[in-house]
Amino acid sequence: MKASMRQAVMVRPGRIEIREVARPEPKEGEILLNIKRIGVCGSDIHVWHGKHPFTKYPVVQGHEFSGMVESVGSDVKDVNVGSLATARPQRVCGGCGPCRRGDYHICENLKVEGFQAPGCAQDYFLTTTDRFIPLPSNLTVEQGAMVEPFAVGAHSTTRAGEIKGKNVVVFGAGMIGNVVAQFCKARGAGRVMITDINEYRLKVAQQCGLEYISNAEQEKLADAAKRIFGADGFQIAFEAAGAASALAAGIREIEKGGTFVVLGVFSSPPTVDMAVVGEHEINLAGSLMYQHRDYLEAARLLADGAFVTAPLVTRHFKLEYYEDAYRFIDENPRDVMKVMIDF
Ligand SMILES: [Zn+2]
Ligand SMILES: [Zn+2]
Repeated sequence: MKASMRQAVMVRPGRIEIREVARPEPKEGEILLNIKRIGVCGSDIHVWHGKHPFTKYPVVQGHEFSGMVESVGSDVKDVNVGSLATARPQRVCGGCGPCRRGDYHICENLKVEGFQAPGCAQDYFLTTTDRFIPLPSNLTVEQGAMVEPFAVGAHSTTRAGEIKGKNVVVFGAGMIGNVVAQFCKARGAGRVMITDINEYRLKVAQQCGLEYISNAEQEKLADAAKRIFGADGFQIAFEAAGAASALAAGIREIEKGGTFVVLGVFSSPPTVDMAVVGEHEINLAGSLMYQHRDYLEAARLLADGAFVTAPLVTRHFKLEYYEDAYRFIDENPRDVMKVMIDF
C-alpha cells in the first residue's frame, strides 16, 4: 500500500476539507518537502470568499511555506535531505516575451501554486530544482514561511531605483507594507514613514522598528510628511494598501522627480491625476511578486537579522483546523497580520 498524507482542499468558497491522499514521490528534477509551516495571505482570503478572479475549485491553497527536504529525484544534486527550505510558487511558460527577457515573474501564462495550480497545504509537497530555495540554518520554520512576503519586499524595493538616503512613504501597514518598509530601511533609506487607518497595524509597525507612523484618518499626508521629513519631503513611495485615496494623495505630495511603486491590489480602478505625473516628472512603477534572486536575498537578510519578524505573526492553527484559520481572519479583519498553519 502506498503511503498517505493529509491534504487541505478548499472544495468551494468557505469550505476546506482535510482528506487522506497518496503521498507524492519525487521524479527527476523534483524535490519532496515535508511541510512545516504555511502562512495564510490576503489573496488566499479572496479565494475563500470566491472573489479571486482566476482560481477554480476545488483548490489546494498554500504558497508561503517552509519545510524539510524529505527526498530528491535521482538526478538532483547539492540538496541536503533534512535541511530547511522553501520554494517559489510560480509556474511559468518559458516561451512568452517576458519569460524570454528574463521577467518570468510576469509570465503571460503564469500559474501560481495555491491559485491556478495546486498549493502546498498538505504534509508532503513536490517542487522543482529551479524553484527550490535552500534556507540558512539559523532561520526558524516560522521565518522560513515568511520568506515569500519578504521576497515581495525585496522585489518591489528594487523597482524604486536607488533608495539609499532618500525619504520614503509606505501606504498600508499590513504584512506587505510592513516588509516593504523594513526593506527600505535595510537598503539604507533616510526616514521611512508608514501610514494606515488601522491602529493595530501601526502598533505592529512600531514593534518592528518602524518608528515613523501616521494614521491617515487622523492626519493629512501633507501634514504627516512635514512632521516627519521637514522641508526635505519624500522622494519614494509605495502603495501597498490598495487605497485609491492614498495613491491620489501620494502622487500629489511626492517630491518632483520622485518614484512611486504600486503593489497594492485595487478593488476598482483608481483615479490618478496624470497631469501631475507628467508635470512633476514622477516615475510610476508597477511591481508583481518576485524573482528567484529576491527570494534568495530575502532569506539571506532574514538570516542576517535585518528584519523584525516576531510581531508579524498573530496566531497559529494546526492543519486540522485550516478552516478555523480562515474564519479567524474573516472575523478579525482589523486585528490580524500573519496567521500560520502548523504541521
Ligand atoms: Zn501571499
Ligand atoms: Zn512565460
